[in-house]
Amino acid sequence: MIKLPDALSTRFEILVNTIPDSLARLHEALLPELCVTCLAPDARKGLCNGCRGDLPVNDRCCARCGLPLLLARPGRERTCGDCIKLEPAYHRAFIPWRYEFPVDRMISRYKYQGQRHYGRPLLSEMALLVDELLTRQPDRRPQLLVAAPMHRKRQRKRGFNQAAEIAEAISRQTDIPWSDRLLQRPRSARPQSGLNRKQRLSNLKGLFELHGGVPRHVALVDDVVTTGATVGTLATLLQQHGAERIEVWALARTPARVNRSEQALHDVAGDRQAGGQPG
Ligand SMILES: [Zn+2]
Ligand SMILES: [Zn+2]
Repeated sequence: MIKLPDALSTRFEILVNTIPDSLARLHEALLPELCVTCLAPDARKGLCNGCRGDLPVNDRCCARCGLPLLLARPGRERTCGDCIKLEPAYHRAFIPWRYEFPVDRMISRYKYQGQRHYGRPLLSEMALLVDELLTRQPDRRPQLLVAAPMHRKRQRKRGFNQAAEIAEAISRQTDIPWSDRLLQRPRSARPQSGLNRKQRLSNLKGLFELHGGVPRHVALVDDVVTTGATVGTLATLLQQHGAERIEVWALARTPARVNRSEQALHDVAGDRQAGGQPG
């Protein structure tokens, strides 16, 4: 797994990020693909088999919100206490990984440091996993993939909206149309760091707008679900405008036991590097 000294890894990343796309494609065609986490030369879509096998799979989780329930028995469908107490506006979640090493590092480099090659393996794997899910459970196929919106100013600064890129990757694999226009975020919130779920919810009030008609069955796509406040707020808005069945599809879910400390770190990193806040 990840044994390479950080300095060497960083120099390699700078090199990879500074070569133009055409050269990168030539490089990919001529040379073996390297694993983004350990630089092993036998990678497939950016990850070697060892690192792929080490990803923290979120297979024991709440069926409703994707919260990891590590003590639950695998294969049994469970609902967490939070979802029993207060049913979220969305009906099912599909979140294949826990927000833990190395997925946390890959997402944060992809998102906050603009190192797109760290996101690619997760995006392509996510698209395949969704395709498999829909083959097993065709009734979960939505009419539209709706990307969680990002404030325009922040998107300009970052250069991309990662939720839109994930939706696009899933759309390419499944032929389900996607939109990053239906939900928009014209206003920015004060930083979410240090706020609990309830405070986050009130901080997010009135922040999002809907532009266009909402199909009956949609999947809301985001990168990381932390407390669920953001996807909950977005799902409520979609529901108020006609969505009857809402799925939440995201790459990773923060386990409850690390929510507070992890969140503080995540927020600090996000606020410092991009002026943003995950939800
Ligand atoms: Zn590897
Ligand atoms: Zn739950």
